[in-house]
Amino acid sequence: MLLGMAQLFSKNGLSIPVMLTEQINDTSDYPDVVEFLQPVKLEGTLKNENETFVFEAKGNTEVNLRCDRCLAPVRKELCFEIKERFAHTGRGNEETETFSGDQIDLADFVRRGILCALPMKVLCSDHCKGLCPVCGKNLNEGVCECDTTYIDPRFESLRTLFNVDEEV
Ligand SMILES: [Zn+2]
Ligand SMILES: [Zn+2]
Repeated sequence: MLLGMAQLFSKNGLSIPVMLTEQINDTSDYPDVVEFLQPVKLEGTLKNENETFVFEAKGNTEVNLRCDRCLAPVRKELCFEIKERFAHTGRGNEETETFSGDQIDLADFVRRGILCALPMKVLCSDHCKGLCPVCGKNLNEGVCECDTTYIDPRFESLRTLFNVDEEV
């Protein structure tokens, strides 16, 4: 996603609207994202403040994530903000990102925004039953035949005793 800067050069005080859209198909930079269902949209302004270029935009997109329990796809809208100050290489200070030429690649800023917007916990539903720990079946789709009864080790000896009694 490229931000064109040329029309603001030497125009102190000028502010222009910015609208950018880009479909992201390669999710390798986004380990939690299965796929982008909508293009990433950025809408904001770019302003020249004494040859410091102030970019402020709101971004949004829609992605498929995976349920933490059953791995089913979960649709989520992600909203984020980008606020950055840019200056030409050699004219910046500690508060600015530098650039050369007449455009700025926003990929890193977009990626940072999206990664921050990802939820910590993803569930397809609060009642998701998850996967069977034995056979891996999605328990939301029905039960399996596995015995997953948890046996408290403290009662194991008691149970053995009981079984022995039964066999006698
Ligand atoms: Zn689930
Ligand atoms: Zn099972």
